[in-house]
Amino acid sequence: SLPDGEFVQIITHEREIRTGYFVKRRKIQKKLRTGKRRRELLEKFGERERNRLNDLYHKLANKIVELAEKYGGIALEDLTEIRNSIRYSAEMNGRLHRWSFRKLQSIIEYKAKLKGVKVVFVNPAHTSSLCPVCGGKLSPNGCRVLKCSNCGFKADRDVVGSWNIRLKALKMWGVTVPPESQPMKMGGWKPTRYEINTLHTING
Ligand SMILES: [Zn+2]
Repeated sequence: SLPDGEFVQIITHEREIRTGYFVKRRKIQKKLRTGKRRRELLEKFGERERNRLNDLYHKLANKIVELAEKYGGIALEDLTEIRNSIRYSAEMNGRLHRWSFRKLQSIIEYKAKLKGVKVVFVNPAHTSSLCPVCGGKLSPNGCRVLKCSNCGFKADRDVVGSWNIRLKALKMWGVTVPPESQPMKMGGWKPTRYEINTLHTING
């Protein structure tokens, strides 16, 4: 979520990479029941997967910091605060795995510091359940979509989440956001999509 009301989505293919290595490990486990060779192969592919994901996070962090340099700051969810909340882990379902998320955040933090970009951590409570336009309660409305029962606002849950995180960060920085400054079109929240390997836009 950018301050000018735009949304950016970066396609990382992380899930495909993870699934690919999962299948590979399963095959090895089936073929070799025990022994040194089995352990070696599993370790080899485990390391390869970690390296690929690490590389991915660095590329992703570079792009995020590059985008943020224009605006001077990055807002991230503070994932340490409500570690034990069941509701929270349900909200995290379908997003990146928590460990990956923390890892990615620390890379972003590090790279942002090098570029003099501020990083702020916000409390993630209600970022997926309250309407960023009017503060009303959101309910699921189809696949990945949330709808406000108060004003009718409707958007992808990632758009809602990132928007609320930005609003929380602005509040922490003492910036007031007048409601009329939000783009008021309904349901047209199409993020600009970037492909991680080329970093070219796919649409928008
Ligand atoms: Zn609303």
